[in-house]
Amino acid sequence: MGEGRADPRRRVPRTDVLLADPLLAAAAVTLGRDRVKAAVRQAQERARRGEINPDEVRDAVLAALPPATPRAVLNATGVLLHTNLGRAALSEAAVAAVVAAAGHTDVELDLGTGRRARRGRDALDALAAAVPQAEAVHVVNNGAAALVLAATALAADAEIVVSRGELVEIGDGFRLPDLLASTGARLREVGTTNRTALADYAAAIGPRTGFVLKVHPSNFRVTGFTSSVPVRRLAGLGVPVVVDIGSGLLAPDPALPDEPDAASTLRAGASLVTASGDKLLGGPQAGLLLGGAGLVERLRRHPLARALRVDKLTLAALAATLGDPATPTRSALHADPAALRARTERLRDALAGEGRKAEVVPSVAVVGGGGAPGVELDSWALSLPERYAAALRVGDPPVLGRVAGGRLLLDLRCVPQHADERLRAAVLAVPEDD
Ligand SMILES: *Cc1c(COP(=O)(O)O)cnc(C)c1O
Repeated sequence: MGEGRADPRRRVPRTDVLLADPLLAAAAVTLGRDRVKAAVRQAQERARRGEINPDEVRDAVLAALPPATPRAVLNATGVLLHTNLGRAALSEAAVAAVVAAAGHTDVELDLGTGRRARRGRDALDALAAAVPQAEAVHVVNNGAAALVLAATALAADAEIVVSRGELVEIGDGFRLPDLLASTGARLREVGTTNRTALADYAAAIGPRTGFVLKVHPSNFRVTGFTSSVPVRRLAGLGVPVVVDIGSGLLAPDPALPDEPDAASTLRAGASLVTASGDKLLGGPQAGLLLGGAGLVERLRRHPLARALRVDKLTLAALAATLGDPATPTRSALHADPAALRARTERLRDALAGEGRKAEVVPSVAVVGGGGAPGVELDSWALSLPERYAAALRVGDPPVLGRVAGGRLLLDLRCVPQHADERLRAAVLAVPEDD
């Protein structure tokens, strides 16, 4: 009977021993103890049948369990708002607020009087306080929902006058003109792809006009022989002007001189501004609506508003983000390149100490996710052989970098500093080339 003289079935690890394993114990918390126990039994059975070795039982259990989803990843792509990685990472304050809001909360109740209160008033008050130029504010599920609500409430059976240069595709095949048309509003396109003048708008405006829409081209740039009409001049046309600023900057940011912000846009005369919560604001997915009291009230009271209502977790995260704007997005945007270089060099040296060769190279980070197109942020990256890319992606934690010129670049701009050690460990966990 060869080497297995001692019956291998007697070496199959016991259930209580397996359940005490740190990884299996953690899985029991997220997936439930029964599910992990069932996987343990199956793996023990396989070992008793001789299909796997007794010392492979623990790994067989882990392999049989579904991975926790979604998985937290380290974003070393150098893209601040990566759509495929969930755009903005929430601040610690916002995460704590989401956890606190997960149970029953006073989201729609005044604890003092015991009466019903305005839903999400903390978030709405914080948004109004952050943008005093807005007479009123409202929050819906995302930027697209904000536009749909505006178009439905203000232009169903009417025309939306919009420049041909601003009929953008947001991503994944979704196009703003289709989105607007789906509400029953008719698009009245004016101007050309590269140039639109005030006279083009003026000629199109009439009794059928619902509003003039201005859309920030947030994911591309048109250069050369171009012109567009600033909000200040559109505001003189005598019809409501709705401006989709896209990225959710509430006030100007010197790092992004060309990115429109809500306060300046309202000051320029916009009737209503729409924006996303999970782009440059660095908050949860949400659609922000800011503008005149009458317009916002019409949106808020429209039946569709109920279908676009945000949940309590979003409201909690948004209130916390507005209360403390030190978000990961803002840190990444304003990170000092010299400090990034020093971190990257420390990482390189630590890896060299373990016999791994990596280089520190200059890198260019971008905002991404529909914001600040063309803006390049000086950064630094750790350069590794390209084969690391796939291994790191399926590692623990998964690390996402950028492949360029046959190398994998890990840009630390969007990696929180406290994660440097985990990043080092993840690189070391990749098997060495032999
Ligand atoms: C991102 C973006 C949208 C869509 O916002 P979501 O929050 O993704 O729904 C609409 N318009 C502009 C200009 C954008 O940049």
